[in-house]
Amino acid sequence: MNFAFAPWQQRAYDFLVDVTRSGRLPHALLLSGPSMLGKHDVAVAFAQWLLCERNDESKSACEKCASCHFFSVGTHPDLIHVSRELNDKGNLRTEILVDQVRKLGEWFTLTPARFGMQIAVINPADAFNISASNALLKTLEEPLPGRLLVLVTENPSRLPATIRSRCQKLEFRLPPREEALAWLRAQGHSDSAPEALDAARGHPGLAAQWLADGSLDLRREVMEDLRALSQGRASATATAQRWNADESLSLRLRFAADLALEAAGRLTDPARTRRLAAWFAAANRSRELLRTTVRADLVVVDLLLQWPVAGERGLAGTKA
Ligand SMILES: [Zn+2]
Repeated sequence: MNFAFAPWQQRAYDFLVDVTRSGRLPHALLLSGPSMLGKHDVAVAFAQWLLCERNDESKSACEKCASCHFFSVGTHPDLIHVSRELNDKGNLRTEILVDQVRKLGEWFTLTPARFGMQIAVINPADAFNISASNALLKTLEEPLPGRLLVLVTENPSRLPATIRSRCQKLEFRLPPREEALAWLRAQGHSDSAPEALDAARGHPGLAAQWLADGSLDLRREVMEDLRALSQGRASATATAQRWNADESLSLRLRFAADLALEAAGRLTDPARTRRLAAWFAAANRSRELLRTTVRADLVVVDLLLQWPVAGERGLAGTKA
């Protein structure tokens, strides 16, 4: 398995390697931070390095030994992944169950298949239900030598403090803007990288996804639609109909809310700022409503009818 790490991933990985080399590898690690920053990839690459059978001082796994071979085909006997499983109906459960944790505890008592280590990567670690948490706590309280738990989560605050306190924490943060931009450009997104990064509020993983799946174009479309409404060139009804016509309504509303907030931040007239801020709140309420059985088309028309008309010039890029 070869990972081309982003700089923020590389820093996290290097930190873990250094901790190991200085003999301070704990029994449990907690990797936390926003989604799409590559926490899981770092956890797996680190596990591969720990289990690699090379005998040099290299910071990365050799990709040649038997252990690395098992990794590349996904069958390493000393690594397990614990995650939410499918229920009887074939849907993904919302929780990790106590049986899964018990199995993990039993697995940890076996002799490692290869040379002395067993690693469990648990993701998302905030998905334990209460009894699963208690079972995990037991495993954490009686650590066995050579066994490592790697917990990965976007929401560390959802984990019981008793579990968090027994893990060494490694927090992934959004990287500095220049670093994120350089990384996006290296992915081949040169022209639109700054726009995407701003739209994603500095999150490079989200920006990369929006660039790749066309969401950034959708955001531009939403901006143009709101501008046309402001200038009286389009009707709320027709725009709402178009927004309702495909699967991206929720994302459109998210972008619309963001754009209103951005525009409000740029205005100096307090009355206009208040109108946009009120619209931002209304857009978010509409997004909530869409999760209920309310008719989406009515919600959206109602929202767009409230969009401040009459020369709102705050909207990003409005030239007129
Ligand atoms: Zn190897």
